[in-house]
Amino acid sequence: MILMVRTFLESFISIVMALIVPITTALGINTQKPQIDPSSFDNVENVILLIGDGMGPLHLEAAKQERNITLALDEIEIEGRSRTRSASSLTTDSAAGGSALACGTRIINSTLGVYWYDVFGLESKPLSITELCQEAGMKTGIITTDDTSGATPAAFSVHTCSRYDTIGIDSQQLKSDLDLIWGGASDYVTKEKAEENGFTFVSTYSEMMAVEAGERSYGQFENSTWHTEQTDAETPTLSQMASKAIDILDDGEEGFFLMIEGAHIDKRSHDNDMAEMAEALEEFDNTVREALEFAEKDGNTLVVVTADHETGGIVLNDDGSYSYTKGSHSSADVPVFVYGSHSFIENGQTVENYEIPIRIAYSLGFDEDDFPKEIFNAWIKNTDL
Ligand SMILES: [Zn+2]
Repeated sequence: MILMVRTFLESFISIVMALIVPITTALGINTQKPQIDPSSFDNVENVILLIGDGMGPLHLEAAKQERNITLALDEIEIEGRSRTRSASSLTTDSAAGGSALACGTRIINSTLGVYWYDVFGLESKPLSITELCQEAGMKTGIITTDDTSGATPAAFSVHTCSRYDTIGIDSQQLKSDLDLIWGGASDYVTKEKAEENGFTFVSTYSEMMAVEAGERSYGQFENSTWHTEQTDAETPTLSQMASKAIDILDDGEEGFFLMIEGAHIDKRSHDNDMAEMAEALEEFDNTVREALEFAEKDGNTLVVVTADHETGGIVLNDDGSYSYTKGSHSSADVPVFVYGSHSFIENGQTVENYEIPIRIAYSLGFDEDDFPKEIFNAWIKNTDL
């Protein structure tokens, strides 16, 4: 049954592809390597990339007004913008948006880590920043308030032609070299499967806190980690997860790369629920604060905070209030906040979304031969769990 669904999906996507390529060409979507000089970047040892899914600039303003708070994000001195689009549309989905941020190239909506011109990945795949860091011996981790198979965590850990290929995503994540993957429940990953693949399985706050440096862990928590307070004593918040993950990954050896997603800024914006979006954004900002505190102490850590796209088309009204104008994604530019490097972007600069992981790679000392990079004969199509 699963194979039939996959075959159907692949046939469907090939037809869509035939229609999309001329559109992509007409849109003039740039898939060339950007002209950025790798030697112009300050070098760092660790990177924490925080993605507020669906977080446009006005989400920040709306959340401040709604919650009557100030944000750690506003204390970050360097702020630019990212142009979010995919190879198939001026409005990206989370799969292509996440893949641009992970692989340094624009791909087709609903696909994960496969080239837009080679959607089956039969010939090659784009290396992700996660895999680049793993090859260099760095520790890598992914945390999300979404399921671990959600589009954003998947973009940083798998290669598949469909974001709905949950069994393939779970399978690739289990067989990956990730040191840490924590999120919501999974349909296919059980405690036994996680342990068979070398992970310690954790599903409570106490179990999470007991994980030690050097121990690989697979976390499945209740989908309430986006709240600002623990909903029960054994469900961590996103900021608690981040704080512990940084402790585990910072083992003082080759550095680490950690991607953290606040998924509910997007989910609540799809519902046009401003109050819950604001709470999710406040907890995401609490998580940013944890990352900034670590980076300040460490002195060798780059913190980048951005979004994959804007969700809900938030506008400022004449009476000073904020409201949603749609229930889907928009093509608006999103913020890019940078701490720990003065050469990552210029203050006020707008960059293409796919440049962000390239700039991260260069900040870690990699050069243009290392990333972005096409890997041949590396297609993973394993559905065995
Ligand atoms: Zn998204």
